Amino acid sequence: MNNHQLGSVLSITLGLLLFISCQQEVHYQDLGDEALSDINRNADWLAYGRTHYERRFSPLKDIHTENVNNLKVDWFLDLPNDIGLVSTPLVVDGILYFTGTMNIVRAVDAVTGNMIWEYDPKVGEAIGNTRQVGWKHNRGLSFSKGKIFAATWDGRLIALEAKTGEEIWTTRTFSRERSLYITGAPKAFKDKVIIGNGGTENGPTRGFITAYDAETGEEAWKFYIVPGNPADGFENEAMEMAAKTWTGEWWKHGGGGNAWHGFTYDPEFDALYIGTGNGSPWNRKIRSPEGGDNLFLCSILALDPDTGEYLWHYQTTPGESWDYNSNMDIVLADLSIEGKEVKALLHAPKNGFFYVIDRATGKLVSAEPFVETTWASHIDMATGKPVEIPGARYENGPVDIMPNPWGAHSWQSMSYNPQSGLVYIPTLHQAVKFSDEGIDLESWQAEEFSGGIGVSMLAADRQPRDYPASLIAWDPVKQKMAWTVPQDHFWNAGTLTTGGNLVFQGRSDGKFLAYDAGTGDALWIFNAGLGISAPPITYKIDGKQYIALLVGFGGGYARGGWEAHALGWSYRMHTRRLIVFSLEGNADMSPLPPPHYPRPIVDPNFTIDEELAVAGGQLYWSCFNCHGGGMFGGGMAPDLRASAIALDKSAFTSVVRDGSRINMGMPSYADMSDQELEALMHFIRLRAKETLPAYESLVNQAGSENDQAEEEMGH
Ligand code: CA
Repeated sequence: MNNHQLGSVLSITLGLLLFISCQQEVHYQDLGDEALSDINRNADWLAYGRTHYERRFSPLKDIHTENVNNLKVDWFLDLPNDIGLVSTPLVVDGILYFTGTMNIVRAVDAVTGNMIWEYDPKVGEAIGNTRQVGWKHNRGLSFSKGKIFAATWDGRLIALEAKTGEEIWTTRTFSRERSLYITGAPKAFKDKVIIGNGGTENGPTRGFITAYDAETGEEAWKFYIVPGNPADGFENEAMEMAAKTWTGEWWKHGGGGNAWHGFTYDPEFDALYIGTGNGSPWNRKIRSPEGGDNLFLCSILALDPDTGEYLWHYQTTPGESWDYNSNMDIVLADLSIEGKEVKALLHAPKNGFFYVIDRATGKLVSAEPFVETTWASHIDMATGKPVEIPGARYENGPVDIMPNPWGAHSWQSMSYNPQSGLVYIPTLHQAVKFSDEGIDLESWQAEEFSGGIGVSMLAADRQPRDYPASLIAWDPVKQKMAWTVPQDHFWNAGTLTTGGNLVFQGRSDGKFLAYDAGTGDALWIFNAGLGISAPPITYKIDGKQYIALLVGFGGGYARGGWEAHALGWSYRMHTRRLIVFSLEGNADMSPLPPPHYPRPIVDPNFTIDEELAVAGGQLYWSCFNCHGGGMFGGGMAPDLRASAIALDKSAFTSVVRDGSRINMGMPSYADMSDQELEALMHFIRLRAKETLPAYESLVNQAGSENDQAEEEMGH
């Protein structure tokens, strides 16, 4: 072997070694907390908020303010059986993962969009003939060391092998007898994975989170968010402390506090932060009649990630009475405040205040309102508590309250850009009138699956603004707004911000926009043709930056109808999609049909029995969570007024009582009598008749809007 040959062998060997070490570096089974904590690692999107810091900031800058107007569809995936899509995809080692309707998990090639595997947890089968509080949407997944973790509506936590989709383990996190559900993404950290649940409005719930061993699925620890009956003994000192802030017999009402979103692992302080839920019921006069802060409702709770032991807490809404949960994102940021470096935690919960908290101590650094707050004037920095406005607890009668229970900001993620120093918050501006007049507070009791909140909500006399929502850029150091974009429709999606000085956000009207992160100037707009409720992500493969977005109007507001039906996103006509954009994209994607308003069927051969219709109206309380308040469908389930099935007794019985559409998300009401089915059918016909004029004016209005748009475009 001559020197030349030796050199070749050496270089091949070296190349092979380099190849192996590179392979090892990116090997998906080795990507754990170190990779999840690496804010400079930019090819993937490994965690819900991209990294453990939950900033939804990517340093990628190939797409930037100067070229974003060239962004085009690179590939797309039609999802014809999906309905509400609200999830954040993950990208790991070239594979994009996301959750869809009925908790189906899909893995697709992140460059081509080709399906690699699909995992169906068969939620319909798991529910069987038991009650269920809706099940149409899910916010995402967690990844660590080669495993994908998913949670299902019916309460299972599942570990899948990331490359194959093979089930590794599955565990039930609560009993099917309970009116709890999971919409959130699990959170994996330090060889564990945690999950909580929702359901404060559906029964007497006592919130908790559970951590499981990531390898085996064995329970590692469990933390209750509110204390139980003292007579049963407290689980830990934290519960004993919390019980001192409750009065009466709160445990009969559960207390609430359910953690359905907002889990952050802090790799620097080795702490787990949990955003906790509102009271069950909402009305404190029922829950804790002599008052009290009711720990740990509406708080950020810091726990030891290994043991689940209490570390500290900060309560945003003591003794909450308005559904002001603190389940929103918890973002980790390094701020420079008055010359001092602060390892901060940023939080913008429903109650309308923006909080900066020192992660080293759990102490409040600052808090200012980012919207009009009519329940509290400000946060007293000496006590760290809100200064409430007299009457806000509807103690003197009905009162207009802003924000309303949708919150000033909900689960739609905010993002933090360390380059601009700003936080981009999808913000809501709506007031509601709270009243507990006429409610027997002493005898009030929630029941599983029929639930209740212990207070009534009526239309407010005045709304705080003449627009219902906005995108705001908030400076967390100065605690003031940097810029704002008013929006015409409620319930817009979460944000993404990038090193290209951009902010991306989808809206409920189907538009997807890119803004200049510094000024809020709109630089690019794409019409997806269907309401957007999911936040975008970005990733880079083979030198190309992509932006991925799930399109499919969803979440609580879409589920319930309200004004959402006026957007015209149909249950079936508008195909739900995963759309991926790049600067070189040239995919040919057919546009979706225009907004569609289902025409209520008024059947002249059907004689409405008023008494039956009234009885059906009572029964409809089990239906409105999917089929819409006032029976106006928001697109998450068929609009019953326009349904042919609702006109045919045997078809109706097959769907409602016999569960023939259980795999499409329609629960079976096996205990419903013939008389009750009849009553519902009569109520549906009554609502169809009553709402026909509203339908006609909506169609006329949409028609004139279309004409106007065509004129503007010179047609
Ligand atoms: Ca709630």
